[in-house]
Amino acid sequence: MGEIVFQNTMTGQKEPFVPLHPGRVSIYACGPTVYDYAHIGNFRTFVFQDILRRFLRSRGFEVTQVMNFTDVDDRIIAKASAAGLGIREYTDKYIEAFLVDRRALGLEKPEHMVRATDHIGDMVQLIERLTAKGFTYVSDGSIYFRISKFPGYGKLSKVDLSGIQAGARVDVDRYDKTDARDFALWKAPKPGEFFWESAIGPGRPGWHIECSTMAMKYLGETIDIHSGGVDLVFPHHENEIAQSEAATGKQFVRFWLHAEFLLVDFEKMSKSLGNFYTMRDLLGRGTKPSSLRFLLASVPYRRQLNFTEDGLRQAASSVERLRNFVARVRNGKFPAGASAMGERATRATAEFEQGLEDDLNTAQALAAIFDLVREANTAMDRGDFRQDDAAPVLRTMEAFDAIFGVLGDDDAEKLRSLGIASDQGVLSDAEIEALVAERQEARKSRDFAKADRVRQQLAERGILLEDTRDGAVNWKRK
Ligand code: AMP
Ligand code: ZN
Repeated sequence: MGEIVFQNTMTGQKEPFVPLHPGRVSIYACGPTVYDYAHIGNFRTFVFQDILRRFLRSRGFEVTQVMNFTDVDDRIIAKASAAGLGIREYTDKYIEAFLVDRRALGLEKPEHMVRATDHIGDMVQLIERLTAKGFTYVSDGSIYFRISKFPGYGKLSKVDLSGIQAGARVDVDRYDKTDARDFALWKAPKPGEFFWESAIGPGRPGWHIECSTMAMKYLGETIDIHSGGVDLVFPHHENEIAQSEAATGKQFVRFWLHAEFLLVDFEKMSKSLGNFYTMRDLLGRGTKPSSLRFLLASVPYRRQLNFTEDGLRQAASSVERLRNFVARVRNGKFPAGASAMGERATRATAEFEQGLEDDLNTAQALAAIFDLVREANTAMDRGDFRQDDAAPVLRTMEAFDAIFGVLGDDDAEKLRSLGIASDQGVLSDAEIEALVAERQEARKSRDFAKADRVRQQLAERGILLEDTRDGAVNWKRK
């Protein structure tokens, strides 16, 4: 196994990754703002964070990952009050939906999933610490961070601070680089708005202080990896650095990893543009969770990914190909002995690892697997594949699946967990005929695993098959 390198947004360079404490990695992952269902752009970033943790775990690191729920911010306050609900009441539904969606996408559970509103006292303490060190000031009952007091301000996003007026403030949570200003740590309530009573006055936290507080509470003052989508670099992560390092005097984060956007028609997928799909939108109309996971995982996280139906179809057929391959190796009857395929599989594992070591280059890692699949399929077609080749090939596929997590044939179960019946799309006669023909083809070429899979797929959609003596197949709807 070689050295792991990650592209660090702070330095703009690929750097060898070594955790602060040998054998243990701490990761903070900015989680969803739970004012609505997460869209698949959000899930692109969450899948990247999952690949990251799975890869580090596969390397034997003990990973402690914190993911937060932003369950109080400008948008949530506005939406909850429009719905006539309390903040917790309003956000509970979306947190629950997010947890279900995560499971359907096969995302491993972070060690800590925490809500901002459970940490208001900790945030107040951090703000008090900043005040004691002279980094804050009060204006109209709100407390602001004075960016001119923190010499490192701008080091992550490289924002140009020349021309910024001292004392200019910004009250909203999300703003552009051109609006770099003193930002709110604690916001005084507007009339009728929800607030907490606290030692620093009535109010509510700004978005940025939430993450600094929860990151340091669970992971300590210096953490190994902090991650999110590229839109979080400024102002969110820049402000997190300012707050955390001003309070502790220590480096807050050693590696900053940012995922590029998922695009639709080459535009960022976002709620505000209205060009978004939720998981439920896609799965409800027949997409398998494994296809979506594969699609989101297959493009390296630092590259933009343009979402298309065609891409989704290709992902589905890639997953199918991989599953069929594993079934063929597992169930096939091969001549005794071993060929060079065992060594070939070991080399594929090494190449797969090399891809991931290089800043999680999932495309390169996948290419290594597909090369092996192609060569092993050819060997099987020719009768060159041997009994003892199966174990090393299956080990490679296991190493692949520890990271990609798509080989388990559990899509129907996952859909049911979302309340989507697996027989959603009712098959037309022509579609049934086509599947039956596909199964016949598979049987003819003695690919019984595939034949069984098609039978199963039909059964899940309520179609029963009856094989007749003369080799024909009758089918009927249940
Ligand atoms: P939010 O719920 O807006 O706080 O976003 C949750 C996560 O999704 C953050 O890490 C964002 O950077 C990320 N994100 C938002 N839109 C996209 C997108 N189109 N593609 C990839 N990641 C995104
Ligand atoms: Zn955050």
